[in-house]
Amino acid sequence: MTPFSDISGHCLCGAVSLAAQVKNHDVDACHCSMCRRWTSGPFLALSVDDSIRFEGVENIGVYKSSEWGERAFCTICGTTLYWRMSGTDHYGISAGMLDDSSELVLATEIFVDEKPAYYAFANETKKMTGEEVVAAFAAADNESDVQDV
Ligand SMILES: [Zn+2]
Ligand SMILES: [Zn+2]
Repeated sequence: MTPFSDISGHCLCGAVSLAAQVKNHDVDACHCSMCRRWTSGPFLALSVDDSIRFEGVENIGVYKSSEWGERAFCTICGTTLYWRMSGTDHYGISAGMLDDSSELVLATEIFVDEKPAYYAFANETKKMTGEEVVAAFAAADNESDVQDV
């Protein structure tokens, strides 16, 4: 098993592109109401850290959606780019942007307690409630007052 693989992706219009190195190809699906309002579906994302590099940064718009999270989009075509934990190098980049999705695996579903009834994934996944996610983030981040993503 190779420790890292290179991934790349771009938005719908091509004004923003990214490259990064990932340890795995695990995709998380977030069912929270904010992600669903933002993307019209669960937000499917890969975790990426400070290896991420962008081209076309002048076309990246950032919306700070909560005290600890920000959501980025292409200011030209509106493509969802990433969710980032504010002030950190922890990114969840949109799986839909990737140039090659052949190795992606849907691994985890989060905020399953906010998932509406009208859809469901058939994939075998690890499932976490919002409370469990916040507890995991808080433990990692040493913060206790996080509530919304
Ligand atoms: Zn674009
Ligand atoms: Zn979410």
